[in-house]
Amino acid sequence: MNSPHEAMWQKLGLNLDSHNALLQVLGGAYNDIYLNQKNRPKGMEYFDFVLSEIHGQRIQELLDEQAAGRKIIGSYCVFVPEEICLAGNASLVGLCSGADFAMEEVEKLLPRNTCALIKSTFGFRLGEVCPYLESADMIVGENTCDGKKKAYETLGTILPKKNLYVMDIPQMKSVEGRALLRGEYLRFMKAVEKLTGVTITVESLREGIRTVNTKRAAMHRLLKLRAADPAPISGLDALLANQVFPSDNPARFTDSINKLCDELEKRIEAKEGAFPAKTPRILISGCPMAVPNWKLPAVVESSGAVIVGEESCVGERSTRNQIDDSGTTIDALIDAITDRYFKVDCAVFTPNNDRLQHIKEMVKAYNADGVIHYGLQFCQPYLMESIPVERALEDAEIPCLRVETDYSMEDMGQLKTRVEAFIEQLR
Ligand code: SF4
Ligand code: SF4
Repeated sequence: MNSPHEAMWQKLGLNLDSHNALLQVLGGAYNDIYLNQKNRPKGMEYFDFVLSEIHGQRIQELLDEQAAGRKIIGSYCVFVPEEICLAGNASLVGLCSGADFAMEEVEKLLPRNTCALIKSTFGFRLGEVCPYLESADMIVGENTCDGKKKAYETLGTILPKKNLYVMDIPQMKSVEGRALLRGEYLRFMKAVEKLTGVTITVESLREGIRTVNTKRAAMHRLLKLRAADPAPISGLDALLANQVFPSDNPARFTDSINKLCDELEKRIEAKEGAFPAKTPRILISGCPMAVPNWKLPAVVESSGAVIVGEESCVGERSTRNQIDDSGTTIDALIDAITDRYFKVDCAVFTPNNDRLQHIKEMVKAYNADGVIHYGLQFCQPYLMESIPVERALEDAEIPCLRVETDYSMEDMGQLKTRVEAFIEQLR
């Protein structure tokens, strides 16, 4: 394959053969799953373009910014505040980890029974196929689950620039937990300043907060429109917007989402949907689905249901709750940032009752008929928590299906049978 971006990839140190193989798989899956959908909003053309250029134009854009003095910070978790990065003249990019790659090499460094997300992180590095990872000036890891916490120790040794920064994350929603997070955000702010050579001011931090608030508000506008019946957009398309959320240029992304929402509002008025009215409606809850992990949504939406919400870090867990930008000191703004992120109800927290409550709220808000809890195999926090989630939903008389899977296609048949039976139960 000859791409106009090959020289750039070579310069970044990518393995061109492996990278071409990855792009081919990605392109094929995208064609099969996304471009074959019916009744797609026109506004999704922007996201089709973003996906087609995810390793091309977007990387070139970031490298151009880098050449002009801006830094690139890569992150694996929604606890890393984009607001602080923007305030320090850095762009934050989410590092995907949604596909198996170089598994034989990965399993020399990680136990087999490690979740697919962590394995994928290693596979993209060992296979030299991720231009975001290779171009980043700083990679931020975080102490969330035990798997990630220990894996970062090894990841730090195999990163090309040995540029790993590890952020500590509390495990309890206590006064002490909040103080820990606040302290970590101050430490991160200093690390960003050191990296970029830019002193973060009240004005630049407030500007960073406003930019991300506006982006989140646009996403929320989109998510709320999915409450309509017929749903104006498929779950697959909404997932794609959520997947692009952490890596696109914030202003352009916000603008594209708002244009998409304008179109969806007209579709709702005209009672035009991605699926017919009265199609069974599903809320997905659980582990994040990074690009190109479209497996479960593709199964659900090809089985006669529509996904109307994602209770996930690639979804509402990352886009809800705004930050108060009225503070007049760095301390006050860091407090406001901490308040927002401390509400993230990741399953690494104990206890985590807020999440159980939020799932029920989402079911109501998006008129969902049932919940599919998505747990990645070997993900202890989410698999453990799937049982209390199921119980809480049972008590509220909300049907729930617990699914445990990975990135391979081996269980597709079994998955489809279970999902179809669940959807039948919702009719
Ligand atoms: S699920 Fe938890 S560890 Fe994973 S991205 Fe979300 S907050 Fe971070
Ligand atoms: S999916 Fe689970 S085990 Fe894997 S990184 Fe996320 S929280 Fe950790």
